[in-house]
Amino acid sequence: MNYVQVYIEHNSLSLNQTFTYQTDQEVSIGSRVKVPFGHQTLIGFVDAICDQCDLENVKSVLEVLDPEPLLDPELLQLASWMADHYVTSKISCLKTMLPPALKPSSTHRPIVYEQWAMAGKGSGSLTPKQAAFLASLSFPCKLSQLRKRSRTMTQRLIDQGYIMVEQRPKGMSKIVSTHPDHAFTLTPEQKQAVATISTSSDTIFLLHGVTGSGKTEVFLQLAQQVLATGKQVLFLVPEIGLTPMMIDRVSARFGNRIAIYHSQLNAQEKYDQYRLVKENKVDIVIGTRSAVFMPFSNLGLILMDEEHDASYKQENMPRYHTRDIVKWRAQYHGCKVVLASATPSLDSYARAYKGVYHLVELTHRISVSMPTIHLVDMKTQKSQAGLSQDLLDAISTRFTHQEQTILLLNRRGYLPIMRCMDCGQTMTCPDCGLALSYHKKDHVLMCHCCGRTFAYTDSCPTCGGHHFYQSSMGTEKLEEQLHSLFPSAHVVRMDADTTRKKKAHQKLLQEFERSGDILLGTQMVAKGLDFARVSLVGIINADSGLARLDFSSNELAYDLLEQASGRSGRQSQQGEVYIQTFDPDQYVMRCVRYHDYKRFFKQEMQFRHLGMYPPYVYMCTLIFSDSDPARAMKKASQAKAMAVSVKVLGPVEISMRQKKVRYRLVLKARNQNTLHDCVWQIAKAMKGNVDINMYPILLEE
Ligand code: ADP
Ligand code: ZN
Repeated sequence: MNYVQVYIEHNSLSLNQTFTYQTDQEVSIGSRVKVPFGHQTLIGFVDAICDQCDLENVKSVLEVLDPEPLLDPELLQLASWMADHYVTSKISCLKTMLPPALKPSSTHRPIVYEQWAMAGKGSGSLTPKQAAFLASLSFPCKLSQLRKRSRTMTQRLIDQGYIMVEQRPKGMSKIVSTHPDHAFTLTPEQKQAVATISTSSDTIFLLHGVTGSGKTEVFLQLAQQVLATGKQVLFLVPEIGLTPMMIDRVSARFGNRIAIYHSQLNAQEKYDQYRLVKENKVDIVIGTRSAVFMPFSNLGLILMDEEHDASYKQENMPRYHTRDIVKWRAQYHGCKVVLASATPSLDSYARAYKGVYHLVELTHRISVSMPTIHLVDMKTQKSQAGLSQDLLDAISTRFTHQEQTILLLNRRGYLPIMRCMDCGQTMTCPDCGLALSYHKKDHVLMCHCCGRTFAYTDSCPTCGGHHFYQSSMGTEKLEEQLHSLFPSAHVVRMDADTTRKKKAHQKLLQEFERSGDILLGTQMVAKGLDFARVSLVGIINADSGLARLDFSSNELAYDLLEQASGRSGRQSQQGEVYIQTFDPDQYVMRCVRYHDYKRFFKQEMQFRHLGMYPPYVYMCTLIFSDSDPARAMKKASQAKAMAVSVKVLGPVEISMRQKKVRYRLVLKARNQNTLHDCVWQIAKAMKGNVDINMYPILLEE
């Protein structure tokens, strides 16, 4: 008889509590088991096994679901580390590592298999008809389709070994690249980057390359080198819909050795890709955040493209950052990591600056120079439908030259910030340096970081002006306006509404590449696109992200503007960018104007230093929610009283969720362990009744 310690998913349990069951079946650590719990039957994960136990009346395991463990020792160890590091439940970490079909409480239908025909060596002679049939096939293909064409011939070819049959889960996504692969001869700068990364004894590299500097080719050549040594490569990209071109290029180069893993796959497809890795059938995985948990056995290199991208942070339980997991796994496998971006996160660049990461730079575009940036001062320019005359003229010229335009309209401009139209400044909190937002209900201005409120005023503290700007135009409205301004133009709109369906991104981008004149969209058009004919980028409402509502607002704004600009003039013609702003002197604008990331970094670090924000401090948010406001407040106050070793801001009331009132505390400490210990103490005292975000990118929800 064995006794097993089991993690069970249950809301009322405090963090990381296990329960003991007995079983005489074969079981391993990391297996899922079905167990009785109260009146329910639940599925749990086995965490430990022992042959004795001093408890009485130990209940029995009902069923062992996996005789072989689902997760290998590395991933089990990683889950423990995550649970501790992010102060979260271990079962949520275990769950997040598995494809949906294997999650403990999975209700997915069993995996359906189908038979696929693959090319076999074959022996023995064939009739001319059989040989012709064989020659007409392109492998792999579904066996059922071959049988439809000729049942007898198909069987004959199988019998003689010309066709091999393989079981594959149904719906196996076939990887087809729409563009042929061609490897480039590296430029001297690219060559230097590849050489440095492959020969240096350092392990973490930050590849800071301006937009269009050919980072992808550097990745591909590094990957090639590592694959040649028989090791595996993990290639991470932000949201998949936004990076179809990257996938395309990687799959064109590496063909069937590749698995693709991302959130748009269904459960069956995910399971299928997971299995390819687990069974060592592929040696390169390209995917989004969740691909970081693929069951690699022999990882040789991790590439993390657009490492600054917010989608690498998971914002529900467990709230992990992919970059942390990457570093952990790299250390486990003893492999190298390349973090890459044109606009690195402040956090990564600060580490590279200090020499913790090895900084590798690509400072030039491959064949053209960086686009010319025009800052359009909206306080003085005439505009139609939100488009300045300069931008309208620039769009018109594109039509005559058969060139294309990308327009970015970021809808975050809806936030009720007080921006003065006369001087372009926003009203800010004197304590936190963050923009105040207007609260209609109470008619006050409020700081969303510390919660201080100020009496509403309609005169600007900087210049005394009385005109405040409120943006209200969305992408749909702008599309209409463009149709009436340029009736013959082909406008493609890409935003959350037009991309709901699977593969919608790819379809819209293909449409634009083929025949579009203008691609209009939210921030999804800013990232990763590489179209030869795009020579103009217009940013309609550049200030929308800029008001410092949050400690990272300017970092996000800089990223967005620089990345969006980077879509212009990438291959042959010189690109132009028009940035429409009410505050052209703001330093983010000035730094983008000259593509000067370093200057931006230095200025922004000063602000972070003065305001005690990351990367100078470690920061964490705790959210307390309850249907009863007094109870929520009480919990927050109790926690605040416990947090004596760190700096605490709040409690601040934030938006309601699921009819519950929510209060937020912000905790800051210079020392990571101090913060970590303090949060664990609170988490234990609160018995899990607190929503913890150890490394928030944004405070606002
Ligand atoms: P990044 O990811 O740095 O923005 P890309 O990798 O997309 O840049 O490269 C920019 C463009 O330059 C692409 O169109 C790519 O095909 C081309 N390119 C990259 N490397 C080379 C090279 N060595 N020679 C010629 N063209 C190249
Ligand atoms: Zn404040």
